[in-house]
Amino acid sequence: MKQIFNFSAGPAVLPKPVLERAQAEMLDWHGSGMSVMEMSHRGKEFTSILEKTEADLRKLLAIPANYKVLFLQGGAIAENAIIPMNLLNGKSADYVVTGSWSKRSVEDAKAYGQINVVASAETGGFTTVPAFTDWKLNKDAAYVHYCTNETINGVEFLEVPDTHGVPIVADMSSHILSRPIDVSKYGVIYGGAQKNIGPAGLCLVIVREDLLEQASALTPAVFHWKTQADNQSMINTPPTYSIYIAGLVFEWLLAQGGVEAIEQINIAKANLLYNYLDKTEFYSNDIEPAYRSRMNIPFRLRDESLNDAFLKAADARGLLQLKGHRSVGGMRASIYNAMPIEGVQALVEFMQEFEKIHS
Ligand SMILES: *Cc1c(COP(=O)(O)O)cnc(C)c1O
Repeated sequence: MKQIFNFSAGPAVLPKPVLERAQAEMLDWHGSGMSVMEMSHRGKEFTSILEKTEADLRKLLAIPANYKVLFLQGGAIAENAIIPMNLLNGKSADYVVTGSWSKRSVEDAKAYGQINVVASAETGGFTTVPAFTDWKLNKDAAYVHYCTNETINGVEFLEVPDTHGVPIVADMSSHILSRPIDVSKYGVIYGGAQKNIGPAGLCLVIVREDLLEQASALTPAVFHWKTQADNQSMINTPPTYSIYIAGLVFEWLLAQGGVEAIEQINIAKANLLYNYLDKTEFYSNDIEPAYRSRMNIPFRLRDESLNDAFLKAADARGLLQLKGHRSVGGMRASIYNAMPIEGVQALVEFMQEFEKIHS
């Protein structure tokens, strides 16, 4: 098989040892004679998989005991609606807009109550984030929502705002587990699995217990966090195979030394690409350096008529899925946990060669 590096924003690259393990266990999981796909979600085999997956995630993120971990479906987009259903409780909510995904969250939440956009980086083209001191927070809000890593625009928050006790709800889809976080600073953390965790079909929700009591009576049972928490995320059939793969990814992460160790590698990977982008005139990234994402790095060729040639040559070198999001254009390299540093080295080498040929 030829060596490739997959820079897709999601569904994205998975650690090779995880895929190999899944392959080895595909037909017969641990002597059960069954594939994980064929198991009853309530049987002892799958129950043990789910319990270990949750325990390993708790270990990785040091999740306090007063937080529930839910394994849900519908992706992060479904949570955009599920969050107000579970939390608004007749109040308003504050939203901060820092890119395409948080903007979408506002649109999806509006149907459920009063949504206030309290800060936005849209006029600046989402190249930076609004300073915490400029967030016009309402102290009566049910929660404050923001996206901690904007996958499409390439901006990331490394600090957590002080919301004076109003619970923070954070969409961490594209950088969860890329570095340590202090879970206790958040009310709710959520993310679709297909960026930095595992296959599509699974959405993780980490929710503080005291926030489970305020859901609208109209919330469907599968989207009702308390009901799901009381039933081990099994009010209906959970996405069993996606949970299993997520569990293998968590084991792999622990073997790497956990999120502290992977953060160091992620910093080194991001620096490699940003340092080059800052040195050359041929390519550019216009995100304010303090808020540049370590996971999703959009960049442009100065001469955009070379875009197709760039993508074609990259593809021929096994550097795949570098095309930028259709709303932003240009290129984007997503370099999640599972992207080895060799992949970023190969990308930078290729970009240097392409620059030499075309300048
Ligand atoms: C991908 C992504 C989403 C959408 O996730 P789905 O699982 O497709 O619903 C939402 N927010 C962020 C930050 C994302 O990266």
